[in-house]
Parts: sequence; structure tokens; C-alpha cells
Amino acid sequence: MAASMKGKRCLVIGGCGFLGRHLCEVLLEKGWTVQVFDIRTTFEDPRIKFFIGDLCKIEDLKPALEGVHCVFHCASPAPLGNNKALFYKVNYEGTQNIIATCKEVGVKRLVLTSSASVVYEGKGIRNGKEDELPYATKPLDYYTETKILQEKTVLAANSQDFYTVAIRPHGIFGPRDLQLVPIAVDMARKGKMKFIIGDGKNVVDFTYVGNVVHGHVLAAEHLNPGSPVCGKAYHITNAEPIFF
Ligand code: NAD
Repeated sequence: MAASMKGKRCLVIGGCGFLGRHLCEVLLEKGWTVQVFDIRTTFEDPRIKFFIGDLCKIEDLKPALEGVHCVFHCASPAPLGNNKALFYKVNYEGTQNIIATCKEVGVKRLVLTSSASVVYEGKGIRNGKEDELPYATKPLDYYTETKILQEKTVLAANSQDFYTVAIRPHGIFGPRDLQLVPIAVDMARKGKMKFIIGDGKNVVDFTYVGNVVHGHVLAAEHLNPGSPVCGKAYHITNAEPIFF
């Protein structure tokens, strides 16, 4: 059953990013007490307590996690990079740090923003079910490789007194998106989108940021002892696939 989160303290790690900031806005509307942890600041809001730090450093994380009811982890280096060491350090080792620090200070709930790419094997997926699709054996890139490790780590940490869940969006669009739509428009303007790979029937999924946020909120509200949500991954999508 969904629990009321009014007045409950949460920490949004990566809260200064595109998704994280939208999540903060909805959590505030719902009456949560919101804290943000990020390596940079991109906005100000007097209702939010900001902690600036690196999630790779336990000493930075610790003060931000004290007294927190639920952590949302939506920090990552930008997916288009190719810096293997950075992806491993932030997405994999950093997530291990978050879990260890949560346990040390007594935080019991962790909602991870994963990615639908963790199950992508190079072939379009229609009506894919989370409990039937295995992790990709040949991940697309270092970003995906470390998102798989990250998700496995978070779900394996689920236990009788630590509750975890992973939300898997694919491309997220909406206000303040600096990656998906601006990059696609830029490529189109440069004439780089005139090619069709395959027969034109490939599918790709884009999800409105508000729906991705809604998935995170529902997950957090249901992350309670004995809930079927605990230890599971959920794809989050709008409805119909988009031909690409
Ligand atoms: P974003 O780049 O806008 O936000 C990520 C935030 O993480 C940034 O504010 C950044 O400063 C912060 N961060 C990075 N390294 C950090 C560190 N070491 N310590 C503390 N903070 C750090 O990205 P986004 O689009 O909002 O993505 C959020 C999450 O959603 C990521 O986990 C990403 O993998 C996942 N995701 C995004 C999309 C998409 O289309 N945007 C699709 C699938 C999954």
C-alpha cells in the first residue's frame, strides 16, 4: 500500500540535473522535505537544502544522508561520453558508496534511476517484460555497461531492512532537456539525420519527464517492508513505441 510522504525527508542525488530537478519540484508539491546532493548547482530554491559534493566521496555523502527517509539516485556522467574510468567510478563505485553510507547512517530506502538500455541487445523490444528480459550481454557502451553494474548492485542490496527499486526510462524529453531534443535538432540542422539504419521499422522509446518522475514517486511510496516493489526493476514509458 502507498504510504503518505508528507513531511518525510528525501535526498535527490543528481538533483541539479534535468530529471532530478523535475523530481524535486514534484516531491515539494507532494509535501516532502527535499534535499539535493550534486557536484554542481544549477538553480536555487529556498525550500530545498543543497549539499554540494561528489558521490564518489563518502565524507561528502554522509552529512546529506543523515535523517533521510528515502534516497533518489539520479546522478550520472553524461551518457554520450566515452570516459570508461569516470563511468566506473561514478556509476558503479559511487553507487556502492551510496549504499554503504545509507546503511551506515540508517537510511532504508533507495530509488535508482537506471536505464532501459540495460536490456538492449541491438534488436527492438516490444512489450518487453522486466522479469523476462535478461541484462544485455554486449552493452552498447561504457555508460550502459556501468548502468547494468549499478542496477545489479542496487537490486542485490535489497534486504529485510534496506528497500531498493530501479526505474528504467529510455530517452527522456520535456522542459529544460539539454541532451535529447537539442542534440537531435542540432544534428538535423547539420544534415546528419538523412540516413535510415535498417528497414525503417526500428523502434525507440521516448518518455515525458513528468511520467518518469511519476514512476519514481510511485516507487518511493510503495517501497515498504513486504512490498512486491522491493528489489525489482520497472520500465517506464509513455504508451506506444515510436518508429525511428
Ligand atoms: P543530467 O546530466 O541532467 O543530471 C545528472 C546530474 O548528476 C547532474 O546534475 C550532475 O552534476 C550530477 N552528477 C554527475 N556526477 C556526479 C557526482 N560524481 N557526484 C554528484 N553529482 C553528480 O542527467 P539526466 O538526464 O537528468 O539523467 C538522470 C538519470 O537518468 C541518470 O542516472 C541517467 O543515467 C538516467 N537516464 C537518463 C535518460 C535521459 O534521456 N536523460 C534516459 C535514461 C536514463
